[in-house]
Amino acid sequence: MNDVVMEVRGWVDAARALQADTVALRRAIHAEPELGLQTPKTLAKVRAALEGLPLEWKLGPSTSGAVAVLRGAKPGRTVLLRGDMDALPMPEDTGLPFRSRVEGAMHACGHDSHTAMLASAARALCAKRETLAGTVLFMFQPGEEGFHGARFMLDDGLLDNPAPEAAFALHIMPNAPAGSFGSRAGPMLASSDELTVEVCGRGGHASMPHHANDPVPVACEIVTAIQVFVTRRIDIFDPAVVTVARIEGGSTNNVIPESANLLGTIRSLSEESRNAVHAGIARIAENVARAHECEAEVSIERGFPVTVCDGRAVAVAERAIGSLFGEQTWQTMAAPLMGAEDFSYVLQRVPGAMVFLGVCPDGQQWKSACPCHSNKMVLNEAMLARGVAAHCAIAERFLAHGFD
Ligand SMILES: [Zn+2]
Ligand SMILES: [Zn+2]
Repeated sequence: MNDVVMEVRGWVDAARALQADTVALRRAIHAEPELGLQTPKTLAKVRAALEGLPLEWKLGPSTSGAVAVLRGAKPGRTVLLRGDMDALPMPEDTGLPFRSRVEGAMHACGHDSHTAMLASAARALCAKRETLAGTVLFMFQPGEEGFHGARFMLDDGLLDNPAPEAAFALHIMPNAPAGSFGSRAGPMLASSDELTVEVCGRGGHASMPHHANDPVPVACEIVTAIQVFVTRRIDIFDPAVVTVARIEGGSTNNVIPESANLLGTIRSLSEESRNAVHAGIARIAENVARAHECEAEVSIERGFPVTVCDGRAVAVAERAIGSLFGEQTWQTMAAPLMGAEDFSYVLQRVPGAMVFLGVCPDGQQWKSACPCHSNKMVLNEAMLARGVAAHCAIAERFLAHGFD
């Protein structure tokens, strides 16, 4: 295998030579998805694909995550490349021949392809070990979908000794032209927190509300007051989104319930607006409830922080990818997306960038292609070779030039 890679010229050719293996690994992972912080079968597939290569493996203890360390022939800088391994708890309805064989689990976010691209990048870079000055860390991470897998791996010390000086990740995007790449300096993805409000009143007969204290209209008033708060008190240039996605209370038409509950999500693009929204929602919910002689209990579960890309790292990725595929394949994102990513934990520690890779399927419009997290999400496997080459070129460029 390594002989094949050694003979071809350049990262594009190396990725092309590995493409059949990249697709085979991606399909094997796709057919057997795993959830959460423990993805041992997926890691076993990765390790089988990388067997015999000059990699040191750093493992555990909190998750099935692993960091494979490639030390180049000469000393130098250290760069990290990351791929996530976990799937989503949902059914798959793609009809693909390699569709999930695990009921209620699907690789609908493309993490199967991220892992396969990273494994092939590791193979290609290992084949060039003699010419590399510095160290490449390949971070195979479980638990991205809400489980804080990256944070566990950081806390476990897997990213220490050697510590990376820059970190990069690719994420596929069906809703972007096939083969295009994009990112942006600064906030790229939002923080994501879960909001729960319990409004407590007093139950009673629905025909005599004055003998009870109805929490339902109070809960509704809190929902609208939150929207007023977000538009009036949060800087439009440091925005936040609050969506109350579920209102729940009561059991039948003629009973006033004792309580009503709200469930929603809070997204923001800075810690300042994030903290302002948390404080504001608590203040508003508690005081609106108090005005009606009810009580509101607000709890906010902090999810992933804002994903902030370092401008110098974005430039490294843009130059590396431009040298492979031409400048026109790079598109600087005009605005962040309000989705969230736990690569944000790595970027809090290490300057770096996440880069989207467009994988719109052939014959479809990228704007209307089924997005990530859809039960029908399909990706353009031919573009995975581009991701492999991009990983390699970014790593090589950073080792050679740093952020210059
Ligand atoms: Zn996802
Ligand atoms: Zn994802």
